[in-house]
Amino acid sequence: MIAESELAKLSFEGAPLLLTELPGPRAREVLVEAQKYRPPARGPGAPAAAPAGTAPAAAPPLRGAVWDEARGATMKDIDGNILIDLTAGIAVTSVGRSHPKVVAAARSQASKIMHVGIGNESLAHLELAKGLAGMMPGGLKNHCLLSYVQGGSDAVETAIKYARAITGRSQIVAFEGAYHGVWSGSLALTTKSIFKSVFGPLIPGVIHVPYGYCYRCAMGLTYPGCRVACARYLDYKLNTESTGAHDVAAVIVEPLQGEGGYVDPPPEFLGIIMAACEKKGVLFVADEIQAGAGRTGKMWAVEHYGVTPDILIFGKGIGGDAPMAGVAVRDEYAEELSRAPQPNTFERNAVSCAIAATNIGLLTDKKMDLVGRVAEVGNEIKEKLIRETKDIPIVGEVRGKGFMLGVELVKNRETREPYTDTMTITGKVRQRGIIVAACGRDNNTIRFMPPLVITRDYFNKGVDAVLDVLRAEAKAIA
Ligand code: PMP
Repeated sequence: MIAESELAKLSFEGAPLLLTELPGPRAREVLVEAQKYRPPARGPGAPAAAPAGTAPAAAPPLRGAVWDEARGATMKDIDGNILIDLTAGIAVTSVGRSHPKVVAAARSQASKIMHVGIGNESLAHLELAKGLAGMMPGGLKNHCLLSYVQGGSDAVETAIKYARAITGRSQIVAFEGAYHGVWSGSLALTTKSIFKSVFGPLIPGVIHVPYGYCYRCAMGLTYPGCRVACARYLDYKLNTESTGAHDVAAVIVEPLQGEGGYVDPPPEFLGIIMAACEKKGVLFVADEIQAGAGRTGKMWAVEHYGVTPDILIFGKGIGGDAPMAGVAVRDEYAEELSRAPQPNTFERNAVSCAIAATNIGLLTDKKMDLVGRVAEVGNEIKEKLIRETKDIPIVGEVRGKGFMLGVELVKNRETREPYTDTMTITGKVRQRGIIVAACGRDNNTIRFMPPLVITRDYFNKGVDAVLDVLRAEAKAIA
């Protein structure tokens, strides 16, 4: 397994290093100027925008950073501040930012050819395809067809189209709390209203069922006494007459819910779902965009649950520093897919392929064993979070796997009423030089998703800063 001292060389030394408040004076200038060009929509957790027809609210405070340089799990802004990154750009930069091998591969490829055009090949793509096929879980391994796009939402759209083309059916089942993207198909599967409210109508035929979110069970039950009633409900829904699910092409599931709150479902959850799909000839589709590429301590999150999907959707950590996403489909569906064209102008961009292939080489390197290390260090950090948050009354639950750990905040441990000011907490943590983000149905879960190459030292420094801020906040509202 790679030594901590080797990993330390990938990041800036001495982080966090704060020279100014954040954002600093140079960053402020850029942010103010750039803000003029940005559509003003705000994400979850930000103060609500003024309702239509009323006067616009005051300009939001300046958020964000202006990054100048990044290495491994550290980011330097244009004022010279160096921050520890516990977000990996939202679970993206798996092997760390600007890994020297990735930079070398990108440089070399860019000097030869970048855009290859639809239907053509490059050696960089062939290397990527072999790497991807060889790292797939279970029966997909070396038995899959690969289709590429530039982002996760597009990959989910592709999966929906392929599932319909393969089965000749149209409905799609997804889960409450899901996040699958922002286009008409993927957004229809996504459940958070702030993302959806003004964009309808989206694709019809989407059915949402409860996820295995035990801390807030939709059925008011407790695991294991519930016998995973949520998953069994899906079985009932798919395999019972007159439930409205008569024409289902696919069930799309995040094996560990990402934006929904870093929720890892009970061990039986995915097995019951896969079996329910098999009974009805419905495709079982795993969205591994966030949880895949080693993040949970196995290469793919489905591997924790002993299931293999018919279609696996990948993104984020596979491309790392390059936009690269796509789907791997069981190769037995080749004939059906021969009738399912999916042209995409920028597909197989040779630089993106070279970067992704290099990432995969690093992720699968047995000597370094980055993924095994994620399992080990992730466990240590999870135990620490559980231990250290016992006495912090605003912490409701610590959960997750590997480097996909969540701390759900509540106003009250008894009532489990969601905490409402998580952005203030993440903002205060940032003022200490640690980048951390929130997620969750009520945006009340702090998530830890650093690059897989972060050192124990930097990860612990980041966690300690979060714990300090949580303790102070809990005291302040007590
Ligand atoms: N699926 C999942 C599970 C995701 O976490 C995301 C992004 N957070 C997406 C799909 C959409 O990916 P993108 O933002 O690249 O379109």
